[in-house]
Amino acid sequence: MHSQSLHTIKPWIEGGPGLRARRDIAEGTKLYRVSGMLSALPTRTSLQVGAALHIDSATAEWRFIEHSCAPNLHMDFVDWSFRADRDIAVGELLTFNYLTTEARMAAPFTCSCGESECFGEISGFAKLAHDLKERLRNRVAPHLWAGEAGGCIFGAFQAMPGTL
Ligand SMILES: [Zn+2]
Repeated sequence: MHSQSLHTIKPWIEGGPGLRARRDIAEGTKLYRVSGMLSALPTRTSLQVGAALHIDSATAEWRFIEHSCAPNLHMDFVDWSFRADRDIAVGELLTFNYLTTEARMAAPFTCSCGESECFGEISGFAKLAHDLKERLRNRVAPHLWAGEAGGCIFGAFQAMPGTL
């Protein structure tokens, strides 16, 4: 019987904590549903789930998912779960683009993901130039689009009922 979790925490690999796939994961697989304590303020490990709402957990594995500008996970905003954006091979580091949920990072940093379309400074969606925001159009959280001046792209997520 396979009772082990999909992933295992291997801290301090490549300079920081991270999660690696414990087995091959097919595109679209739901890995984690976000849960934890809600707060009005972000922390280093929280995830922004509303205009002024953040969630964090002292025990959840998802808090160890690292940032990448070309990640292998994305957030499904219908039920707030991390899903595989493509097929992921065993041993791969699980990554997520923090800019798709965070308006302003509690702990901004310079990205070193090495991807050709790296966003560079990861300080939050609100800090991005418009063209960079557009690049995230299909992956960004509803609460971040809703904060855009004029609401010109608000319609992009009106067809997604059930979001927070
Ligand atoms: Zn990057």
